[in-house]
Amino acid sequence: MKFSVLTLFPEMLSALGESIIGRAINKGIIETEYINIRDFSKDKHRRVDDYPYGAGGGMVMQPQPIYDAYKSVAGENKPHVIYMSPQGATLTQNKAKELAKYEHLVILCGHYEGVDERILEEIVDEEISIGDYVLTGGELPAMVVIDCVSRMIEGVLDSEETASVESHYNGLLEYPQYTRPPEFMGREVPEILLSGHHANIEKWRREQSILRTAKKRPDLIEKADLTEKEKVWLENELKGNG
Ligand code: SAM
Repeated sequence: MKFSVLTLFPEMLSALGESIIGRAINKGIIETEYINIRDFSKDKHRRVDDYPYGAGGGMVMQPQPIYDAYKSVAGENKPHVIYMSPQGATLTQNKAKELAKYEHLVILCGHYEGVDERILEEIVDEEISIGDYVLTGGELPAMVVIDCVSRMIEGVLDSEETASVESHYNGLLEYPQYTRPPEFMGREVPEILLSGHHANIEKWRREQSILRTAKKRPDLIEKADLTEKEKVWLENELKGNG
């Protein structure tokens, strides 16, 4: 899968070269390119923004350099184009799974007051937000999208780093994790995890997942796919009868 990021600050994206995503890039499982929109300015001072019509504060990114940057990466098949925007739909795990099906994603990062509305109408398929707050630019949000979408692509995580048990993948939060030492500051690792009994460990993890989702994110547990037996068990646990 290929990600093309249209940005005024390509250096900001370099952190993606680290860790698991960096490894996936090196292995060629995902491809990334960061296109500097300023390179497509026709202005002799390489300007890419201007004052907003109708007055008001700040600067607005002009449509022409963005369009030309987009044309430089769009092949014969139109890629799926995302604009990172606080006005977009909030990114979720399900959206990440959906986006992982595209062969080529183009991600447009705004800056300043954002981009001229006409470029959104011309090239953008959807707007995505990473939360209800405003950041300086779309680069950090683009990195968030690339990271979480990449994790959904086969081969990016190795078999021990499976995404399917992680929080949100199946609508539940992940069970608690422990590593060595077996005792820390008087707190012991739950005995069951040291038992070597895989079926019991799986059962315990599933229950812990359900319990912590109910406690930390009651909004999620309402939509979670639980068996009747699990619902009764949870009710008892929450009443303190477990
Ligand atoms: N004036 C815009 C508004 O009120 O909707 C906000 C512009 S913001 C300062 C500059 C850029 O940062 C945006 O064009 C967008 O690309 C990016 N951005 C800011 N917050 C974001 C968020 N929560 N999710 C995704 N992108 C965001």
